[in-house]
Amino acid sequence: TTAVVTVLVLAATATACGGSSSSSSAGGKGSTIGIDLPTKTSDRWIVDGNAMVKGFTAKGYKTDLRFGNNDVDTQVSQIHKMIAQGDKVLIIASIDGEALGEVLLEARDAGVKVIAYDRLILASNDVSYYASFDNFKVGQLQAEYIVDKLGLKNGNRGPFNIELFAGSPDDNNTQYFYNGSLSILQKYIDSHELVVGSGQKRLTQVNTLRWDGAIAEARTKDILSTSYGSGRIDAILSPYDGISRGVITALKHAGYGTAAKPLPVITGQDAEAASVKLILSGEQSETVYKDTRMLARVAVQMGDAILTGGKVKINDTKQYDNGNKIVPAYLLPPVSVDKTNYKQKLIDTGYLTEADLR
Ligand code: BGC
Repeated sequence: TTAVVTVLVLAATATACGGSSSSSSAGGKGSTIGIDLPTKTSDRWIVDGNAMVKGFTAKGYKTDLRFGNNDVDTQVSQIHKMIAQGDKVLIIASIDGEALGEVLLEARDAGVKVIAYDRLILASNDVSYYASFDNFKVGQLQAEYIVDKLGLKNGNRGPFNIELFAGSPDDNNTQYFYNGSLSILQKYIDSHELVVGSGQKRLTQVNTLRWDGAIAEARTKDILSTSYGSGRIDAILSPYDGISRGVITALKHAGYGTAAKPLPVITGQDAEAASVKLILSGEQSETVYKDTRMLARVAVQMGDAILTGGKVKINDTKQYDNGNKIVPAYLLPPVSVDKTNYKQKLIDTGYLTEADLR
């Protein structure tokens, strides 16, 4: 038989001095951490999951790691099960940021603390902490790369044709990435040094449901046929490697990738092996590397502190309003990677091996 432990969790209060005191042990060492991540179709979530399992195991916890198959109902039912089975802390990277309010009420009633992982959970009071990267900065890095490569800062006024892609509309990060990018690109769009040939600039026009590369590929095809008769695209703002690969596929089908018609400058995110290979072959230009092992470490620190009455480390108490409250966060720095620094950033740090890139 399984012993049922009743737990009293005191609300944690964020303090302005960059720390927050958490409750005393809600289960303590030996209890189970539920980890629910969006999908296995993107490498990064697998790396995140493995790193958290390793980190929690080393600290004496059990883990229950699940992937939601990019399906909201699947994720919700997995979380139900975790609560029913007595998991003491839940670490969740949501598929739809607004879809978890109800199941998190159950978590609250069971005294289970919730950490939003990478993506903020919206419209809920029952999120204690947020572990992520500086998401606005991610978008800025992508846009700065484009501006730099086109020579816009060095007096080359173009005009250059650009097309804009954004992430999934139900992921809170999407607007942070896109706003970060536009904070750099907008002035060049206003001065017509950058021209969005399709005219599609609003987030509702450029988003990509569930970050699906196939959707981005189809949209690229469409844009090429409706807006680029004899014209050429010079740059693509892409928020994620899987989207970049879809765009590149469509561009190559349309004859891009030759000396006469080179591929545009194209950004990405996550340093997925498949995209780093394309960076080495010159097809994708850049990716934003986020060391998910570090993010896992942040989440493990948070979970362990919650369960042992320690101090949860946070470094931001302003940026992340989930609609119900500002969620105290720990944000890590993202890093722009291209051909010139991939060795130092990805290989020397052990994030990828040379064999991964063959
Ligand atoms: C993550 C990105 C990832 C994207 C698609 C976002 O929420 O922050 O790292 O590329 O989801 O999985």
